[in-house]
Amino acid sequence: MADGPAIDIHTHVLILDVEALVSGHEGRHAEAARQAAWNGPESIARNRSLGESYRPKLTDPAVRLAAMDAMGVDIQVVSTSPTQYYYWAEAPLAEKVVAAANEHIAKLVTAHPDRLDGFAAVSLQHPQLAAEQLRHVVRTLGLKGVEISTRTNELELADPSLDPFWAASEDLGVVVFIHPLGCSLGERLDSYYLSNVIGNPAETTVALSHLIFGGVLDRHPGLQVCAAHGGGYLPMCSGRSDNAFNVRPESRTTAKSPSEYLRQIWFDALVYTPHPASPPRGASGTQSGLPRHGLPFRYGHRRSAGAAQDRGSFGCRLARDSRRQCSRTPQPTDMTISSSTGHGLPAGIGPLQPQERIGAHHG
Ligand SMILES: [Zn+2]
Repeated sequence: MADGPAIDIHTHVLILDVEALVSGHEGRHAEAARQAAWNGPESIARNRSLGESYRPKLTDPAVRLAAMDAMGVDIQVVSTSPTQYYYWAEAPLAEKVVAAANEHIAKLVTAHPDRLDGFAAVSLQHPQLAAEQLRHVVRTLGLKGVEISTRTNELELADPSLDPFWAASEDLGVVVFIHPLGCSLGERLDSYYLSNVIGNPAETTVALSHLIFGGVLDRHPGLQVCAAHGGGYLPMCSGRSDNAFNVRPESRTTAKSPSEYLRQIWFDALVYTPHPASPPRGASGTQSGLPRHGLPFRYGHRRSAGAAQDRGSFGCRLARDSRRQCSRTPQPTDMTISSSTGHGLPAGIGPLQPQERIGAHHG
């Protein structure tokens, strides 16, 4: 694949206007408590100790751009930190949260059109509202993708109530970036940073499996889905899904073998190996390997061989779609696509009150 611009599709921003809207709400405290329990005290404390150094990268565009330059990243596609999904919010508040988030992202993209693109936020807990929000951001703010979590409160992504959102996404031709906030394995992962190490990919594995077995990709064959963290463990175990499809009646729910659907899903390369585990690329074809995301907050970013081949697929397509010319010369081919500027908000970091610092995320 020819070299293209170095594009990081997995970077986050922290939006202070959103924090102001949810400050003091009971749902906010409850979610913070849950995330703190899931992450465990050691990881929470560690993230808090790192928080101040991360904050400028999440909130100051100049710091972000300088970090991008330092790493040789041409373009970032920014999305809200998953800690700011706030899916517990009732519709009136949810509308304000999403409006503030999308206006912030649109403003960033408008101010730096040759360096930044953006995924929108939606109120997925209110599917009809989410569909309307998505239409609005695409048609008026010009964003071309949307970030969602791996479930909405207790609903899986294949729940029929979410079909208005999926239908709008398909109709608008946007990319749906699926990124977890925490993992329902909960306190089982509260040590050794397993909440992040295992929790994030495990959560994505479950979400994609619901998406496939639950028939969302059959009902909406034009959907463009991008899964964070290499798609979790699903690509490397897709044979198990196919076997269940073949031998278990309750698993034979789709028009095609489950692994066939992986071919229409993109995966980022945030798995910390020179290549993602081979299945994301091998099982999903050349379009599926996405720019690696380097993680500044908990693991540090690094450059490694191999990521250059990931350029030119999804990220470049975003750039082309926006009719942008990348202003910077692509870096040598051993440069990974990574970011120290935008990755999300680790547990315990944020413009929050100390007693309510939220657990979460990330990497
Ligand atoms: Zn992330």
